[in-house]
Amino acid sequence: MNAEIITVGDELLIGQTIDTNSAWLGMQLNQAGIWMSRRTAVGDQAGAISAALDEAFARVDLVLMTGGLGPTKDDITKKTLCDYYQCGYRLDEEVLNHLTHLFSKRGRKLLDINKIQAELPEACSTLMNYMGTAPGMWFDRAGKVLVSMPGVPYEMKHLVETSVLPRLKSRFTLPAIVHRTLTVINIPESLLSKELEPLEQNLPEHIKLAYLPHLNTIRLRLTATGAATASLERSLEPSWEDLLRACSPYLLAASDTTAVAHCAAMLQQKATTLSLAESCTGGNIAHLFTLIPGISSVLLGGVVAYANSLKSGLLDVPEQLIHAHGAVSGPVVQAMAEAIRAKTGSDYAIATSGIAGPGGGSDEKPVGTVWIAVASAEETRVKQWHFYGTREHIIERATNTACHQLLLLLQAQA
Ligand code: AMP
Ligand code: MG
Repeated sequence: MNAEIITVGDELLIGQTIDTNSAWLGMQLNQAGIWMSRRTAVGDQAGAISAALDEAFARVDLVLMTGGLGPTKDDITKKTLCDYYQCGYRLDEEVLNHLTHLFSKRGRKLLDINKIQAELPEACSTLMNYMGTAPGMWFDRAGKVLVSMPGVPYEMKHLVETSVLPRLKSRFTLPAIVHRTLTVINIPESLLSKELEPLEQNLPEHIKLAYLPHLNTIRLRLTATGAATASLERSLEPSWEDLLRACSPYLLAASDTTAVAHCAAMLQQKATTLSLAESCTGGNIAHLFTLIPGISSVLLGGVVAYANSLKSGLLDVPEQLIHAHGAVSGPVVQAMAEAIRAKTGSDYAIATSGIAGPGGGSDEKPVGTVWIAVASAEETRVKQWHFYGTREHIIERATNTACHQLLLLLQAQA
């Protein structure tokens, strides 16, 4: 079944707010068997909103709308929908009670402008919003359903989870959709697609393969559509096994994840610890690990040894080594990894040193040259990489690759 999203708000059109609601809604609805076939963004303008609705309802039976439900004058979605469905207003006692309670809890007086939020179009049923002041609205007329929700992302998500999805499931007969995603690294998309050509040609009609590249990683998603989840899972199995086999040389994870998250999960699973000595990645690896809840059981810490003096001073990298090979070199990055591991007592260590650009490159070591070392008690693996892109991209590519190198070392020692 197809549906469309209409996001309302001038801020979305002038780039002041990025439309994250559509992405989240698309994912949630898709998991429920609803295919988001089009997204439309309109400003806070009655004519634009009703025209977008007319156009969407000419194509689909379900439209989800977010935005324009605030109490201020610039938000006009509720009035526009009241006009669109040619009805008057009713006072919703439950919403009024909720608002009274909410305001007294916050120690604020309920203003008339807030009370108006309890007045809803007669044509809709109410979707209670316990996270905020603007209720959601469900219109169901002539076989066409419109769900209008506030733009504030966490309020919209709350409404979708608590009332919209359950109502959609009982209102429509939805097909089953099953996705399986794996993540590969350091293989160009065009090369990979050439390798996967035979597999793709042999996919059954109800299974599709999608490529989702991001920097030096690509997520590959198999999607099966049908009547029942269990039989789809079974029918997906052979294609999934084929895909895993074909991707094995580049496989980062047999799931939809990031290099850092997967590395953290594997370290957690093995109950092992990690330390970091970062030069060109400047703490990016440490930062991304730090974003993961519970990472303190794995990440001991590390140093950002950017200047040569810190590489020698903090990590005991011999000055002659830096002098002989340069800071961006195998011997130096190996010494960094081994030193941080020894100093922190961690099981594993990662070290990076490279030229992120745009300046600082040479014929011998062009911009994008990055040396990465991963170390354990048994061995240190050292490898040179050549990344491309902006400074930020090179740092991200190096971060992903460093985590992948550590994953390979972990697998080898399993
Ligand atoms: P509104 O319901 O129009 O009062 O929206 C309230 C706030 O929600 C706005 O200030 C935006 O920052 C945010 N918002 C609105 N629409 C979106 C959207 N599509 N994606 C993310 N945030 C949004
Ligand atoms: Mg608005």
